[in-house]
Amino acid sequence: MTTNRREFLKIAGASTLSLIVPMILCPAWAKEKLIISGGESPEAISALRTLKAKRWAMAVDPSKCRADCVDCITVCHGVHNVPNFGNPKDEIKWIWLEKFAAAFPGENHSYLGESLQKLRLPVLCNQCANPPCVRVCPTKATFQRPDGIVMMDYHRCIGCRLCMAACPYGARSMNYRDPQPFIGKINPDFPTRTKGVVEKCNFCEERLVRGLGPACVQACKEKALVFGDLENPQSEIRLLLGKRFNLRRRANLGTRPQIYYIV
Ligand code: SF4
Repeated sequence: MTTNRREFLKIAGASTLSLIVPMILCPAWAKEKLIISGGESPEAISALRTLKAKRWAMAVDPSKCRADCVDCITVCHGVHNVPNFGNPKDEIKWIWLEKFAAAFPGENHSYLGESLQKLRLPVLCNQCANPPCVRVCPTKATFQRPDGIVMMDYHRCIGCRLCMAACPYGARSMNYRDPQPFIGKINPDFPTRTKGVVEKCNFCEERLVRGLGPACVQACKEKALVFGDLENPQSEIRLLLGKRFNLRRRANLGTRPQIYYIV
């Protein structure tokens, strides 16, 4: 065995023990850790293999959503340390509910069925394949990964808000104040932001690297959210989109959104 390999095994063993021992000694700690990390089982946490795709995308079937359910929002905002400033003007949102007419203004008309008029659907950053927010960022604080995820480097953000102006979906929020005092319970596994920094949904890239799907998808008991690789013809999302009619928000703008709504 080479020294490097021995060192690696030592570190891996120590990391595993650091998770397992507290779980045995203190079940309450383990439970809290699970809740804050999205509620996944210990088996899922131990499957530490990075999830990869050629093009990540999400399908949303709002007809499956329970009335007044906000589970996806609660979990997402919890694991990502999203502050609650307590007023709509300063609201920071990664995922939120929107009426059908507001989400799809091009599909709205006076004769829209009552069920669609009443529908409130989860909306989030569309992880656009042709993202205008990325083009306008002067510091490259926002950038696109090869798998399509539009990322934020909080340390490079200078708070110019050009990305917010460029995004036609209102998917970006600005911290006009120090967000730290307004975070309910800080998740130490995800960075908090500072005053003057823009944030948005990141498709849970920090979970994908640990082998876990997005927290919102995991939290949805009704399976209204489906996440997967659009370039894999056998993936659940591809099979779903192949058989159900779906819409993308304001696709006529050429942004090529990667959130697909089953209607
Ligand atoms: Fe950028 Fe907005 Fe598209 Fe998200 S929805 S990638 S923030 S333009």
